[in-house]
Amino acid sequence: MIYTDTRDSSVKVDFRTAVMNGMNAKTGGLYMPLSFPRLEQSFLDKIPEPSFRDVAFNMARPYVEGEIPDSDLEALIADAYPFVSQVVPIDPVTYVLELFHGPTCAFKDFGARFMARVMSYFNRNEKDNLHILVATSGDTGSAVGSAFSGVPGIDVTILYPDGKISPLQEKQLSTFTGNVRALKVKGNFDDCQRLVKTAFTDTELRSRFRLSSANSINISRLLPQSFYYMYSSLVVRNRIPHDSKIDGGSIIVSVPSGNFGNLTSGLIAREMGAPIDGFIAATNKNHTVPDWIATGEYKARDSVATLSNAMDVGAPSNWERINAMYTLEDVRKLFASYWTDDEGTLKAIKECNTNTGYIIDPHGAVAWKAWNDIRKGAMESLVAGTLECDKDKPGLTKNIPLWAEKAVQKKAVCVVLETAAPAKFGQTVVNAIGREPAMPERLEKVLSLPDRAIPMEKDYETFKSFLMETL
Ligand SMILES: *Cc1c(COP(=O)(O)O)cnc(C)c1O
Repeated sequence: MIYTDTRDSSVKVDFRTAVMNGMNAKTGGLYMPLSFPRLEQSFLDKIPEPSFRDVAFNMARPYVEGEIPDSDLEALIADAYPFVSQVVPIDPVTYVLELFHGPTCAFKDFGARFMARVMSYFNRNEKDNLHILVATSGDTGSAVGSAFSGVPGIDVTILYPDGKISPLQEKQLSTFTGNVRALKVKGNFDDCQRLVKTAFTDTELRSRFRLSSANSINISRLLPQSFYYMYSSLVVRNRIPHDSKIDGGSIIVSVPSGNFGNLTSGLIAREMGAPIDGFIAATNKNHTVPDWIATGEYKARDSVATLSNAMDVGAPSNWERINAMYTLEDVRKLFASYWTDDEGTLKAIKECNTNTGYIIDPHGAVAWKAWNDIRKGAMESLVAGTLECDKDKPGLTKNIPLWAEKAVQKKAVCVVLETAAPAKFGQTVVNAIGREPAMPERLEKVLSLPDRAIPMEKDYETFKSFLMETL
């Protein structure tokens, strides 16, 4: 596969270059495959549907062709995914796609574990280790740390702001041993990011060590997230005749979004043949993308803090990829877009639990609420022209997606992405429903591990000497 760049279509690189560079430093653009090859119809039509790993292998293959042979790819996928995503029906037209069965209980495990193994594969013949530096304000760091833990040829240094992340998040970051270490920086997230960025431009450091980043714009994190869209839409397509008895039903996926990497992966899956008719782009108060869909103007802004904090992104970097793949008109036909505030999020957790018995986390709750409003009349009012659409108030934007009629005629089902285990946001869930969600054993375990984070000053020279002595 050839990869190009969102800012310069004359750029043509292979998968290895796209992965190892992360982004194109010359243009500031993001790498994109030149095409999204459709899977064979006979594969898509299988009943029962193929396994998650089968889907993953067939989807990954064209993107690594000529660079990772089939047998190595198969081994890589088996190693990355000892867990799968789970489709859980919570009512006849709603399926929750649980993406939290990986080691850190959040969907970022799917992308990070694939990326870690791909990087290790490309580094296998080098005599020096590859050093990953990553600044995190929470969830990304634990997914990346866990994904690289024990992976040969690579070591990882995670920087996080001391005292500014949740106690559970801190445990998840600071208890690694071996090739992964965490630095708790006396400063804020911006200080962490500045230290990492300065290190990348430090020629002395770069001449001594092979440095790399592992952030969410890396194409090797985005591609594997498309696996679970494909897999779950095939599962749901095969379930619809049994669960809801809808004839010719449409499948809509509701995506709780921040940086819009997850939703971009959904678009890739659809291009590759996933039976998905449309998406709901659901955000919290950081509604930069809904505003773009409403007004046609893209305005990045500072983020505001919310209960679904992994979605607190005011300048979503993957918007650039969506904008490169589709025109605004296409986006308005494919997406319903929706946002809610903290009050709406708490209400959604409660209502979802009362109506279905399911306990959903504050991120999944935003996506569930969007779908629940749509099916309970909001889409009907939108189509009838009676819905009040004020972009500064919670709710749907005024564009009418192509699948709107299907929703109005009750011929649509929805896959709601549940991106984190509710126990990771236990206090919010308690505030909403008055009881604690179940604690997965792997989260419980981490709470009793010793804290190994290394205190770090926020000035660059101290950080640099630490790297010089440690790496
Ligand atoms: C990162 C994250 C999101 C947002 O995903 P994007 O790809 O940034 O849109 C949503 N929920 C949780 C729990 C996350 O960790």
